Amino acid sequence: MRIAVVGTGYVGLVTGTCFAEVGIDVTCVDIDEKKIENLRKGVLPIYEPGLEEMVERNAQKGRLSFSTDLSEVVRTCGCEAVFIAVGTPPGEDGSADLKYVLAVAREIGRNLEGYTVVVTKSTVPVGTARKVRQAIQEELEARGADIDFDVASNPEFLKEGAAIEDFLKPDRIVVGVASERAEKVMQKLYKPFLMNGHPLIFMDIPSAEMTKYAANAMLATKISFMNDVANLCEIMGADVNMVRRGIGSDARIGNKFIYPGIGYGGSCFPKDVKALIRTASENGYDMQVLRAVESVNERQKSVLFDKIHRHFQGELAGKTFAVWGLSFKPKTDDMREAPSLVIIQRLLEQGAKVKAYDPVAMAEARHTLGESIEYGKDEYEALIDADALLLVTEWPEFRSPNFAVVGKLMKEKTVFDGRNIYDANDMREKGFAYYGIGIAQHA
Ligand code: NAD
Repeated sequence: MRIAVVGTGYVGLVTGTCFAEVGIDVTCVDIDEKKIENLRKGVLPIYEPGLEEMVERNAQKGRLSFSTDLSEVVRTCGCEAVFIAVGTPPGEDGSADLKYVLAVAREIGRNLEGYTVVVTKSTVPVGTARKVRQAIQEELEARGADIDFDVASNPEFLKEGAAIEDFLKPDRIVVGVASERAEKVMQKLYKPFLMNGHPLIFMDIPSAEMTKYAANAMLATKISFMNDVANLCEIMGADVNMVRRGIGSDARIGNKFIYPGIGYGGSCFPKDVKALIRTASENGYDMQVLRAVESVNERQKSVLFDKIHRHFQGELAGKTFAVWGLSFKPKTDDMREAPSLVIIQRLLEQGAKVKAYDPVAMAEARHTLGESIEYGKDEYEALIDADALLLVTEWPEFRSPNFAVVGKLMKEKTVFDGRNIYDANDMREKGFAYYGIGIAQHA
């Protein structure tokens, strides 16, 4: 089988590479010439564990190639499916901006030569597949071509940092189709991924489009709910870590995604929650729960800063803060909507100095933060003369540092743990002033 994947970001590159891994011939297309030039040399535009080796292996086998010329690829590849995996960033009003998706659809329409399933893998609002179909149809009519094609919706559920595992062994694959012919193509494509009983769930296209938003909205809701509970725990003298274990053992609740922290970030939850609220309001419905999820999240981004401000009685000017972790979550270099940016910004506004370390995201962070902060060579170097350590992203290497060394390097033994990865009692026994999330501050 041959397919093309348009957009070589976190989703497109993983999708294309994983399809190549199971023996499908894949051409990955992007408009960014530099990205494609680098990919041809084996240099990846993103950090994702295991991806580099997999790209190299499949490129060497000739199953994975890269192009900037979508028109040529659509005209000549004889693809059974073309996946659209370009970005859908939030527009000014919070709705998903479909200009990249529809630009790709039009280009496909201008070049289609034979039956193809055009699949939206980008996260797109209900009704987008219809717009994609219309855009292609208009282009076909403009050139007087009568070519059969189908559209399908195949939302992606991978998690950055575990994207390959998620793609190769998905909890489920959701595909929205409107014809048996398209269903057969999608069935054939995904057959190699169904080995261990992972379900391939076919449904109508609007339901598939909605499923992705409902999934992300539910996950964001769990996070905001738990953050709200954590804040109340703190006021009432309870420990949210205990409460989490207490509720997580109830199978109806489950123990995943109920960790309190400093608010969700990344390229998906914030924009998808916004887009779903917007879709609802455009159609006369008020998503009350999601509006609360969003405002709790905004408030949560300030929680760590507020603790710092209180501890230092507002005197932050001239103080130095070590920040461990910059990416929005571990095992990725993605800085989009990272909570670290909000915290660092607030500290800088107060005249504080920041020295940060992240295992992979420092290059990406420099694009946004530039030289407004210093960057450590490693996590220990970032601590030298710091008035406090802020644990912002829970990278595995930050979990068990040598606290004797940590304490010696710092000016003051104070830790603000935004992810509750350290034990409060243990830290206090080691002589640190310790602040977690949702843990009462005992004298
Ligand atoms: P990204 O920004 O990393 O990648 C998008 C790529 O598309 C870029 O390389 C860009 O150059 C390319 N592009 C834009 N216009 C193009 C065009 N006309 N032709 C060819 N290439 C073009 O984005 P991403 O994080 O991979 O997300 C893509 C989509 O997948 C979004 O809708 C997102 O919501 C969704 N999604 C993302 C994740 C995730 O974890 N990142 C997970 C599930 C779904």
